[in-house]
Formats: sequence, C-alpha cells, structure tokens
Amino acid sequence: MTESISTLFQPCELDWNSIQFNNSISALQPFNSGNVMKVIKSWMNAWTTSSRMGGAHYIYPCLFGCKDVTDRLGHYIECPMMFSLWKFMHRGLSIQATDRWGFNAPNKRDIIHICCVFSAHHATSAHVKQNHDTYGTADQTKQFLIQSQRRTWSIFAEAYEATARDFELSCPRYTLAAIIQWHLSYEGPN
Ligand SMILES: [Zn+2]
Repeated sequence: MTESISTLFQPCELDWNSIQFNNSISALQPFNSGNVMKVIKSWMNAWTTSSRMGGAHYIYPCLFGCKDVTDRLGHYIECPMMFSLWKFMHRGLSIQATDRWGFNAPNKRDIIHICCVFSAHHATSAHVKQNHDTYGTADQTKQFLIQSQRRTWSIFAEAYEATARDFELSCPRYTLAAIIQWHLSYEGPN
C-alpha cells in the first residue's frame, strides 16, 4: 500500500520515516465501511476517473478546468482548481498534500473531509459522464470550457455539502460569486 501511495504522490517525495501510517489507519475506526472504503480508495488511487477505467472510452481533461491534464487522481492530489474548491468548502484544509489526504496523524474531521471530497468528485464525474454530449465536445479535449467548469464546480460543491451534512458538519454556501469574493479576500495559506 505504501508503494502505491508513493506512486500517487509523485513527483512529491513522501518521507515514510515521518509518516506513521498506523495513525491514519486507526483514524478510520469510528467510520462505517462505506466511508472507510472512500478513504482507502483515495489512498489506493482507486477513484473512478476516466483515465483509470480500462477499455476504449473517452478520457476527459481535468473536470475542474485545468488545461492539458487528464482526469486522473494523480492530478487531483495537487489540482489547484479542486484545491480551491475544497478549501472554500473546508477553510481549515491544509496546504500540505500529505496533511489533507490524511497521512499526518489525521483526526476524525480530516477523515470526514476526505469522504466529502471523494463523494464530491465522484458526483462530478458521474454528472460529466451522464452529460457526455455537453462535456465531450471537440473543443473541450484539452480543457473544459468556462461554462462546463462552472457547472462542475457547483456539482462538486453541492455533493460536498450534502456529504458533510450527513456527518452533521456545515459548509459555507457555494455560489460562483461567493468563491470569487473569498478568493479576492484570501490572505494566503494558513
Ligand atoms: Zn485540475
């Protein structure tokens, strides 16, 4: 498992001497098996992205609007667009990838937010696939058009909020205006 995680995080070097993976595993204890699987699938590079599914099928670009990158978990580990959305929904989110993905002694809340991002991404991914006529057009093979990005952002936020609500957590209400406003007033990493 550690090898698979290391590959996922490339080119970031993970320092396994400082990562106590047992802490990550024991943080999963209070969760039901559905939620545990969401976290494990995140750690094992097992999101249902269009790049990971086998066979001849369509591979989308980053669902959140990055240019020239494909829809794959290795990208979402550091995707700046998904990070912004995730941080908008969860202001305490760490800028360190190893922290936010639960490799640095995660607490219950950290794990909940990994479940939320998993569900939010999968809802977005399902939406894009179901609306392939809209998202699979020739002019969107390298990057989604702005109107597609706006749609995927709001699908992500809705699903994130719904999952958080199941855990009795509330999130800031997402609107395009709200995230732009937040970006303008954001004072850098904390
Ligand atoms: Zn991206």
